[in-house]
Parts: sequence; C-alpha cells; structure tokens
Amino acid sequence: MRSKIVVGNWKLNGSLAANDSLLKALLKEVPTGGSAACAVCVPYAYLAQARDVLKGSAIGWGSQDCSRFDQGAYTGEVSAKMVAEFGSRHAIVGHSERRTVFGDTDAIVVEKYAAAKKAGLAPIFCVGETLEEREKGATESVLARQVDALLAKGASALEGGIVAYEPVWAIGTGKTATSAQAQEAQAFIRGRIAAKAKELAARLPILYGGSVKAANAAELFAMPDVDGGLIGGASLVAQEFVSIWRSADRLSKG
Ligand code: PEP
Repeated sequence: MRSKIVVGNWKLNGSLAANDSLLKALLKEVPTGGSAACAVCVPYAYLAQARDVLKGSAIGWGSQDCSRFDQGAYTGEVSAKMVAEFGSRHAIVGHSERRTVFGDTDAIVVEKYAAAKKAGLAPIFCVGETLEEREKGATESVLARQVDALLAKGASALEGGIVAYEPVWAIGTGKTATSAQAQEAQAFIRGRIAAKAKELAARLPILYGGSVKAANAAELFAMPDVDGGLIGGASLVAQEFVSIWRSADRLSKG
C-alpha cells in the first residue's frame, strides 16, 4: 500500500514572524514516526527559515518552483541545486499558476522536473485541466498531453517523483472536485503511466490538490488513487493543515 503525503503550498504568502508561529505550531502537532509524510513548500526566501525550524523533525520542506537552468546569466532564477542546498525534500513544478501566469509550457515544466530530480529533490509534477477544458470533455486529453510530456523522457523519469492532479477550476476557488472526480482523473493518470511502466505506476504517489480542507480531506484521501494532497490556502492555517495531515495519517495506518 502507498502511504499518504500531505504537502503545503504557501504560494506568495508569509513573513518571518508569521512563518515562525506557523512552523512551530506544525512542529508541535506532527510527530516523528507518523504514517503519512508531511512537507511545506515555501517561498525561496524562507527556505533557510524552514530548514532552521524544521530540521530533525518529521516535516520536510521545499520550493514552489525551480529554474530549468543550472547556473549562469538568468537573472532572478533559483536553481534546483540551490534549493537542495537548503536540505529541501521537494520542488513543485508545473503548478497551474506557473503555467498560466508565468507561461511555463509543458516543455519547460519537464525541464524543471529534470533539474529538480538531478539535484536530488522529489519533484511534485502538477497537472490539471481548466473548467473550459472539463466542460468540453477534454479532461483526459489535457492530462494525457501533460503526463506524456514527461513520459517522453522515459517512464523512469517518474521514479522518485510525485504527481499532483490539480484541476485548475478547484485551485483557490473553494470548489473542490468530488472524490469521484478526483479518483477518475487520478486513475486515468496512473493508467497512462502504467501503460509504460506498470510497477512504477503502482508505487507512484499521486496527490490531489484544489480547495482541500479539514472537512473534505478524509473523503478525498480515501479514494484508491488519491495518495494525499497538495494544499494551498488551508496550509497557512496550522490547525486546518494539521487536521488534513491527520486524516492522511489515519488512512495510511489503515
Ligand atoms: C495549490 O496551490 O496547489 C492549491 C491546491 O490551492 P488551494 O488548496 O488553495 O486550492
């Protein structure tokens, strides 16, 4: 059985003072030896703070993006190797906000994923359809295109990575996918990968993201192909995030 993973995506939020109280509240509530993994993906500027507060705990940390480049004349970029130097566990790549606001194409996302893997991180590869795509029945073709971009590098690219299904219409909108919608999409993603690498697909963590809260986490995470969540807004509220993690932990214990 795959154990569950809960990852917070803080987006462009936080301050040294606010992070300190949030991280310390998480530290108190997420014990070592839990069955579900827990991590927070923070703005680059706060990686050192996350490391300093969380080191030695059960909670991992990481970034919300990384450069596709290793080094050089790329003003404003942060390489995956730099992210890894802070002891990070993850880098999110291909979040829909990066795809839509910052123009990350499938090809760029795959390069970022490869850079994160090369740096020893477990990249979180986000995919998902817009509302318009869902309404015109294009959900599966969009997911197939996004997943195939990575599979084109060889299915082994997914080894050590994590996929997050995040329907764009559910991110930050308060409109959560039903557990049946999440399961259907995530079974499709796993099946697509299984066609190339059956055993790897069976082990691959696939998270759901999109308005997950304490009130809906258990139902979503109970789905057979939902291995936890990528949590935006609710990850900024310690009790809410901890309670989401507890749902995952209970389900991981079986
Ligand atoms: C996200 O940022 O990945 C996300 C899922 O956001 P929210 O939980 O706020 O919808």
